Amino acid sequence: MIFNYHTHTTRCNHAFGGDREYVENAIQKGLKTLGFSDHAPYFFPNTDYYSPFRMQVDELFAYADSIRALQKEYEKDIRILLGFELEYYPDFHKGETEFLRQVSPDYLIMGQHLLNNELDHVVSINLNTDELLAAYVSQVLEGLQTGDFLYLAHPDLPGCNFSKEAVEREYRRLCEGAKAMNIPLEINLLGVRTHRHYPSERFFKIAAAVGNSVIIGSDAHEPQDVVDLPSEAFAKDMVASLGLKLIETTLL
Ligand SMILES: [Zn+2]
Ligand SMILES: [Zn+2]
Repeated sequence: MIFNYHTHTTRCNHAFGGDREYVENAIQKGLKTLGFSDHAPYFFPNTDYYSPFRMQVDELFAYADSIRALQKEYEKDIRILLGFELEYYPDFHKGETEFLRQVSPDYLIMGQHLLNNELDHVVSINLNTDELLAAYVSQVLEGLQTGDFLYLAHPDLPGCNFSKEAVEREYRRLCEGAKAMNIPLEINLLGVRTHRHYPSERFFKIAAAVGNSVIIGSDAHEPQDVVDLPSEAFAKDMVASLGLKLIETTLL
C-alpha cells in the first residue's frame, strides 16, 4: 500500500520509537501518506480517571505539535496526517470530539476496544456471550452514525466465539450498516503480525457477501511496522480469495 492511516506513538504506553522514526521508516519504504492515529486522550469531565492504554489528556497539544512539525519538515518527502483512534462512548462523545477539535485533527478512526464506557460501567469485549456481540455491533453502528469516523478499525475485534447464528446475524448487521454509511472496514495488520484472532476470515466472508469496502491498516506500534509487507501480502491474499473490494487510493 502507499498509505497507512493507523499508526501509534509512545504516548499510548504500549508503542515504541520516536515519532520521527515512524516517518523515516515510512519514507524509506515508499509510503506516500502516513496518518498518525494514536489512541486518543479521553476527556472525562469531573474526574481524574485515566486509562493507561492511551495518552494523557494533557499530552494532546504536544502530540499534535510534534506531528504537525514533522508534517512541515518532511512535506517534500511524504504527506503526514494528524489523526486519532477513538472509542465511541455515547455519553461522552460530544465532549470528547470538542476536546479533540482544539487541535483540528485531519481524521478519526473508530477502534472500539471496550463497551459502554470505561468510566462507570466497563464491559470487556472478551465476555463472549451473544448479547455482548449484539451490544458491540449496536454501539459501533451508533458511533459510525455520528459521521465522525473515517473508517472502522479491526471491526472483528470481538472474534467469532459466539453461537453460529449470532456471528452471522450480528456481523451481517454491522457490515450492512457500515455499507449503508459508506464506511470502510479495516483488515488489521497488527492482528496478522501477532497472530491474533483477527482479521477473521469468517467476518470478512460476510463483508464480501455484503459488498463492503475494505482498507488495510498497519496498526503500527513500532516504527518498522508502518509498512509491513509480509502481513500486507497475507491481507491481500485474503482480499483475493474472498473477493473483497480493497480501497487502493487515499481516502483523504
Ligand atoms: Zn494500541
Ligand atoms: Zn490501533
